[in-house]
Amino acid sequence: MTDKKTIYMDNASTTRVRKEVLDAMLPFFREDYGNPDSIHAMGRPGRDAVKVARAHIADLIGAKPEEIYFTSGGSEADNWAIKSAVFGPHAKGKHVIVSSIEHHAIINMCEYLEKVGIEVTYLPVDKYGIVSPETVEAAIRPDTAIISVMTANNEIGTIEPIREIGAVARKHNVLFHTDAVQAYGQIDIDVTRDNIDLLSTSAHKLGGPKGIGFLYIRNGVKLDPLIHGGEQERGIRGGTTNVPGAVGFGKAAELAKLDMKERADKEIALRDHLINRVLTEIPYSSLNGHPTQRLPGNANLRFAFIEGESLLMSMNMAGICVSTGSACASGSLDPSHVLLAIGLKHEEAHGSLRFTVSAETTLEDVDYTVDTLKSVVERLRSMSPLYEDFVKEQKKKQEA
Ligand SMILES: *Cc1c(COP(=O)(O)O)cnc(C)c1O
Repeated sequence: MTDKKTIYMDNASTTRVRKEVLDAMLPFFREDYGNPDSIHAMGRPGRDAVKVARAHIADLIGAKPEEIYFTSGGSEADNWAIKSAVFGPHAKGKHVIVSSIEHHAIINMCEYLEKVGIEVTYLPVDKYGIVSPETVEAAIRPDTAIISVMTANNEIGTIEPIREIGAVARKHNVLFHTDAVQAYGQIDIDVTRDNIDLLSTSAHKLGGPKGIGFLYIRNGVKLDPLIHGGEQERGIRGGTTNVPGAVGFGKAAELAKLDMKERADKEIALRDHLINRVLTEIPYSSLNGHPTQRLPGNANLRFAFIEGESLLMSMNMAGICVSTGSACASGSLDPSHVLLAIGLKHEEAHGSLRFTVSAETTLEDVDYTVDTLKSVVERLRSMSPLYEDFVKEQKKKQEA
């Protein structure tokens, strides 16, 4: 980037590592770099630090430290939970239930599972992206191995009724997994209260480093490894422990617990300011997702008659980092599966943009973003044949 100020509105994609997190990690690269499984003295500092980290991480969701299994991130944790439920000696059946708005780590895995003989039910959602517990219950079969519904959606921010869905799963004796990558450290989660058996997270979504996450596995749930290897993580996740990562994750979790309420209040105020300004000042704009049951930092908006991709490019030119939410890194023009699942038409899905603020975002950042958005939307519409036709139609109607 140049000397121009960058406004980062893409915190659902990743976050800046918190300063205290980096400080906590640094000694474990150059001084205390030992392998925590070593018997000699160099193993000790890492071993002790990972133990402390695990306790903080567990505490944030009311889990026990021994129920936390470190992974390389959210994607691995998601793969582990579902694949282990359907493959191997502890598999419970060959049928999986997921929502149709899960992250690609779940959706793309399920499409793969279908190719190797697993049956998958993709649950519909309502116009806000909510999965109803009744729909979940109706989909359960005798051979259902696992139900997976995310705690909160990464694109539209909708928070799911996971406690109720977990209760349905428990009633039918089916494993319940939730992808809590977007929710962990942002909203209150309690694995016991919320009837959760398995839960995935990732450190880099809450001010921790990239490349580390965990799978929570409730005591008593038998899961086979996804990564076979050494005896790390109670023998079910091989690979030398990522000590700096775990320590950074622990610090991020500790801090997240301390300031969760304060951060949420701040983000909600910024988010609502952004949403309200857009909806009142930009004609033909709408909010995607639920008006209140949404993640504190998430605003997903759509603008009729224009392409989200062009909007994103123009915003980027003005130094504002946002996302179309569809994460089509491949350059694919497929609209987001989440936006289609909530009932948007292809062109509506394409005209959507995701803004995700953090506690570091300022009111000035939000105002600058909305001001820029106003002029960009106006300019793009002035070049849009769709908009031109629409205006002509409106004129005709008025004259008639
Ligand atoms: C980011 C994200 C993931 C993937 O996590 P990684 O650590 O990047 O693998 C999975 N699920 C959701 C909901 C996410 O937002």
